[in-house]
Amino acid sequence: RAKAEGRRRFVLFDASMHEEATRALKLENELRVAIDRNQFEVFYQPILASGTRKPMAVEALVRWQHPTDGLVFPGSFIDLATEIGFVREIDWYVLNQACYQLAEWRQSHSELSDLSVTVNLSSEHFSQTELPEQISNILEVTGLPASALRIEITEHALLSDEPQVHTVLNELNGLGIQLMMDDFGTGYSSLGYLHRFPITGLKIDRSFVTNMLNQSEHQAIVRTVKALAENLGLSLVAEGIEDEDTMVLLEQMECEFLQGFHISRPTNKDTILEWLLAHTQ
Ligand code: C2E
Ligand code: MG
Ligand code: MG
Ligand code: MG
Repeated sequence: RAKAEGRRRFVLFDASMHEEATRALKLENELRVAIDRNQFEVFYQPILASGTRKPMAVEALVRWQHPTDGLVFPGSFIDLATEIGFVREIDWYVLNQACYQLAEWRQSHSELSDLSVTVNLSSEHFSQTELPEQISNILEVTGLPASALRIEITEHALLSDEPQVHTVLNELNGLGIQLMMDDFGTGYSSLGYLHRFPITGLKIDRSFVTNMLNQSEHQAIVRTVKALAENLGLSLVAEGIEDEDTMVLLEQMECEFLQGFHISRPTNKDTILEWLLAHTQ
């Protein structure tokens, strides 16, 4: 009897495992052809200077226009893309699109001539010693100054402490590209990397920002990160602002840059262009 039950359990387990594996494989195959079929699209979310509330940058965020599932968010595919060694290709596509797009906007609209773009590069890039040269080529081809491009990295990228990572980040910094630490406060690294690596700014994670009005611990963390940024001479972006009161509080705290659904959700290039033109004079 025990043997029969055991077998039944095994069969059930096997079936669900099989289903899961089949789904993962399907997603993997779809992901592999998504670039060739042009299914990735870059959305943009504005980042404002606090006080004046003028847009100073847009963050490029990838979306997947899946042929049957519709718009897919990066949370559902970036991890798998990383596992199958495909994330650098996606990032590279986004970086190129974003630079060409920004160059076009800056040329066609004088109000946008100082706008920057900020892109997310996964940690896999920073051991690639050819990265600075490739990025410098994109800047040259698009005619963008290095100050128009910001790169967002996660603490994970700095965990390895390989010598190449130091070289690559120092070269990027040498080109004049700002390096922003994304999701600050959620990683595992010590704060030591803030002086070991040429980090120029912090993006405090939205989990601390969104509810900071109602959660005093979160507000205390935001204030502490603000003090840290100030003492280390780093710029500071607060992301995840979902209401006006939070935005006003962050402005009172003199947090330099503001980002969140309250300002605008990430949207496609045409919608964000309209938004940018309406919010710049
Ligand atoms: P992230 O870089 O921290 O980007 C901010 C995320 O927070 C975006 O989610 C954005 O839509 C969301 N967000 C912004 N403001 C608010 C707000 O007020 N409330 C809430 N609830 N959310 C807000 P998204 O676009 O789904 O991207 C998720 C993550 O996927 C990104 O987090 C980033 O880590 C990754 N990602 C996105 N695009 C790329 C890419 O091109 N390459 C790589 N490697 N990763 C990317
Ligand atoms: Mg980011
Ligand atoms: Mg973030
Ligand atoms: Mg994130």
